[in-house]
Amino acid sequence: MNFKEKLKLSLGEDVVKDDEETLLRYSKDSSDHPPILPSVVILPRNLNDVIRAVEILYSERIPITPRGSGTSLTGGSIPSEGGAVISLERMNKIKEIDEENLTATVEAGVITGDLINEVGKFNLFYPPDPASLQSCTIGGNVAENAGGPRAFKYGTTKNYVLEIEAVIKNGERIRIGKKTKSGWWI
Ligand SMILES: Cc1cc2nc3c(=O)[nH]c(=O)nc-3n(C[C@H](O)[C@H](O)[C@H](O)COP(=O)(O)OP(=O)(O)OC[C@H]3O[C@@H](n4cnc5c(N)ncnc54)[C@H](O)[C@@H]3O)c2cc1C
Repeated sequence: MNFKEKLKLSLGEDVVKDDEETLLRYSKDSSDHPPILPSVVILPRNLNDVIRAVEILYSERIPITPRGSGTSLTGGSIPSEGGAVISLERMNKIKEIDEENLTATVEAGVITGDLINEVGKFNLFYPPDPASLQSCTIGGNVAENAGGPRAFKYGTTKNYVLEIEAVIKNGERIRIGKKTKSGWWI
């Protein structure tokens, strides 16, 4: 069984895509860099899907490119030739807004503008405002340290990340940092 068959068996055809149209769509970002076709695109629904996909891809030595919305201007979300794209777009839940500690816990695929709007309902303010905020994701913002005009006063995404839960190359789940009370700028 090849790695795509293993992925499909483990995660299902709704999560693992290798049709031509999908491969083309995920072969580029918003930069001028030439597209590169992946061999498979994975659209995980949850953390367990990510772990399973990474375990299989790592054991088969297939390079992985994580992806949010593909608005990167750096070529960062263009895959390696024949590699796998793991797009976090379906993992878009805002899990918690903690008004007391001024923290939000979100999945990587949350659209930045959605987070800004959601915290606004609590009279709170999430400053990073890349011009792409209606389509880019928090995961992509963290990886690219995105910021917009408000960065001059409030800093960029790195100033607002307290803790990250991540899946590393062999499928291991790790936590970096600590969700402590926010408010470095006060
Ligand atoms: C019209 C337009 C305006 C823009 N304006 C700005 C601006 O004002 N300021 C600014 O800083 N940028 C701007 N950008 C660039 C871009 O929107 C940002 O870099 C944004 O952070 C990318 O987010 P994304 O979800 O599209 O990430 P993607 O393009 O999908 O990915 C970007 C990088 O992040 C990595 N990545 C994505 N998700 C994850 C994840 N969950 N885990 C690990 N790695 C991940 C990818 O591998 C890639 O290297 C603009 C882009 C466009 C097209």
